[in-house]
Amino acid sequence: MMKFVVHGLIVLFLTVVTQIGGLAWFVSRLFRRSLLVFVIVYVAFSIGAQYTAPAFGRTPLSCFGSGNLQVQSWFYCALNRTYVSPALLEVLQDNADEVAREYPGTVTLVLDANFPFWDGFPLLPHLSHDDGEKVDLAFFYSDEGGFVPGAVQSPIGYFAFESGPTECRNTWLSLRWDLDWVQGFWRDLTLGEGRTFFLVRTLAEEPRVQKVFIEPHLKDRMGTDFRKIRFQGCRAARHDDHIHVQI
Ligand SMILES: [Zn+2]
Repeated sequence: MMKFVVHGLIVLFLTVVTQIGGLAWFVSRLFRRSLLVFVIVYVAFSIGAQYTAPAFGRTPLSCFGSGNLQVQSWFYCALNRTYVSPALLEVLQDNADEVAREYPGTVTLVLDANFPFWDGFPLLPHLSHDDGEKVDLAFFYSDEGGFVPGAVQSPIGYFAFESGPTECRNTWLSLRWDLDWVQGFWRDLTLGEGRTFFLVRTLAEEPRVQKVFIEPHLKDRMGTDFRKIRFQGCRAARHDDHIHVQI
């Protein structure tokens, strides 16, 4: 009985984190060398998803690309969190091109996108990333020497918060994390305001984009007001460590 509970929890966890990992775990239980089989089945399913996702209106961002638009970490690729609708891919590519035109050599980095299958299946902890039309982008960063290409502060680009005034107070059951204890571990970089704000502005001026989320204190620092730049509210994740875009 205990065994079923444990395997049930593993299936649940893998499904929540990778969408197809739970099914791969379930299949692997039918074999004797189950861990090895799990890895093989998971990789096979992940590769298969690249070809079947278009039937669900999703397309994978390239994990091996070298252009202006790249996935920030192998982590997102390994967990199948890099899928977007073809329309969003086009918007992302166009905006990344725009940034690279203004700031040559700059690569726009994608963080969490969506899973390959089924509208309404959220990519936790981002409740809204469930239809291929939402994506998170990394900020750009500098050190004393200036812009550092491809660099972010934390290994996966999230959770390195820019401090600034906020009206939100932390309540439990909120996704508004501060994660104070972890801030000291991050790379010592500063927000590359020129590039980051240029990207936010480009997205906000893009007719195909519906909303861009960043924290109000960053919007204030930008000094411009765009209708599409919104605040996500106090009960959702903070947006002073990344940019959320939806079409
Ligand atoms: Zn988001």
